[in-house]
Amino acid sequence: MRIVRYQTKNEAPRYGWVLENKVGPIEGDIYSQYRRLEAETPLAEVKLLAPAQPSKIICIGRNYVEHAKEHNVEVPKVPLIFMKPPSSILDPGGTIILPPQSQQVEHEAELVIVIGKGGRHITPEQAQAHVFGYTVGNDVTARDLQKSDGQWTRAKGFDTFCPFGPWIDTDFDPADAVVTCKVNGQPRQMASTRDMVFNVGQLIAFISSVMTLEPGDLIFTGTPAGVGPLKPGDSVEVEIEDLGKLVNPVAA
Ligand code: ZN
Repeated sequence: MRIVRYQTKNEAPRYGWVLENKVGPIEGDIYSQYRRLEAETPLAEVKLLAPAQPSKIICIGRNYVEHAKEHNVEVPKVPLIFMKPPSSILDPGGTIILPPQSQQVEHEAELVIVIGKGGRHITPEQAQAHVFGYTVGNDVTARDLQKSDGQWTRAKGFDTFCPFGPWIDTDFDPADAVVTCKVNGQPRQMASTRDMVFNVGQLIAFISSVMTLEPGDLIFTGTPAGVGPLKPGDSVEVEIEDLGKLVNPVAA
């Protein structure tokens, strides 16, 4: 099933589900008990919002060998984690704003895990039971500031630097899906999720050995090789096979 957050003209944002080209509201809590109402509103008539409201967004650095190579760094021996603030969340179709502090903002196409059942000290074997679903993300990064700061909070944390969506797919299989990124229709990144150094179960186990995961929390699983610059007027498109396509324009 595909879960969205959406808004129609005069109504407050709400969760919904997608059936073919229509959307229907969901009543209750999508992470525990809910009821689906009939899907009768055309998808084209609603504004899609970022499909989760996470308490935290955890990201994995250098989780693809080829991406580590392009930056001349080693693949880490244990997952390298950092965070983006929830204030950086951007809706599907929303505009990525290039901040004046950076001369080199880049796209990072990523598979994103959405946590369903929270927990601490989750084992790799238990991890699947804690996954609500998956979505498509772009870990937008001010590469020059990432290098000069050492700590990555500024480089990764600007408002609009965390687009994800357009929906959460609760049936998606993350084992071997092609992740691509295009800028203005030109291919930039392409790899399969099977090339990830640490898989979904290992990542959930590692992160939950550090911090309690809550329903709705996001894990950005790292980006393949081919990251590159964004400039004003660009349109950046991240697509994951059988999952969805996330498109965002870029402005100064
Ligand atoms: Zn990333």
